[in-house]
Amino acid sequence: MAATIIDGNRIAAEIREELKKEVAIMKEKHGLVPGLVTILVGKNPASISYVTGKQKTAHDLGFYSVQDDQPEDIPEDALLALVEKYNADPKVHGILVQLPLPRHINEKRVLNAIDPDKDVDCFHPVNIGRLVIGGSEARFSPCTPAGIKELIMRSGVPTSGAEVVVVGRSNIVGKPIAIMMMQKAKGANATVTVVHTGSRDMEAHCKRADILIVAAGVPGLVKPEWIKPGACVIDVGVNRVGEKKSEKTGRMVPILKGDVDFEAAKEIAGSITPVPGGVGPMTITMLMKNTVLSAGLSIE
Ligand code: NAP
Repeated sequence: MAATIIDGNRIAAEIREELKKEVAIMKEKHGLVPGLVTILVGKNPASISYVTGKQKTAHDLGFYSVQDDQPEDIPEDALLALVEKYNADPKVHGILVQLPLPRHINEKRVLNAIDPDKDVDCFHPVNIGRLVIGGSEARFSPCTPAGIKELIMRSGVPTSGAEVVVVGRSNIVGKPIAIMMMQKAKGANATVTVVHTGSRDMEAHCKRADILIVAAGVPGLVKPEWIKPGACVIDVGVNRVGEKKSEKTGRMVPILKGDVDFEAAKEIAGSITPVPGGVGPMTITMLMKNTVLSAGLSIE
């Protein structure tokens, strides 16, 4: 039987509706509006498009949102001062500095200057530490892993005691999702294995997975025969494998593929995310969720 397709667009829209309601209650009960600032340095077209998407979503949800554009040659000290200004602004609950930054700026220094309580991207070492400790200590979760967890939970996939195999160990996807899935918590409590380029027998590990999370950035890395029948497959990979003419606009658009051969895998898996339309739509939504969480914590 073909797998259930986990629809990231539908689940992201469902979460945004929930957030809209939460924002309305916050306004009514506490006179508080969640505030998100996005800082964009330079004019990188991809960065402009990401930041525009984030601002549009924030605006649709009723946030106080600020788009702060800075020139490509802004000195590092001036950017740090800007971050400090928003750290001190009580209307702002989330600060996002769009990456990559120009080469003359130390990215790490800038990200680490963001107040951890406003670090809604969850890149700050303090927040990663909180995530590792878990329980009441945890505050934000990094957006893509948080989206993966929501997809799993909202698809009704059991996680407690499940074998979870994560392919990839990056700081933004592989490591945090592995930590989140092993915590003693709802939608987690799993037995987690992480595989990477140093792993001896990736196929054997993948074959054991009740939940297989693939974030390697290698198209077709996971073969259909590596998938356990009935498993839940979350394909995080987004790989440009060519171009095609868009039927809507007539323009050339990239052809995107995941790290898993979707067509073959969906005949074996129990549930699976498509690329595009799986994990991708969740990331911005989880950024908004973190901002609402941050605003809520500011009341406390
Ligand atoms: P990354 O920083 O390049 O990390 C890739 C990880 O995969 C590394 O740990 C690497 O192992 C491992 N890996 C690469 N090739 C492998 C192989 N042949 N066998 C085993 N392991 C292998 O990538 P990332 O930032 O985590 O992103 C991964 C993919 O997810 C990319 O396609 C990216 O575009 C996509 N992504 C999507 C979203 C979204 O919102 N949908 C968000 C973030 C990322 P080593 O550590 O040993 O090098």
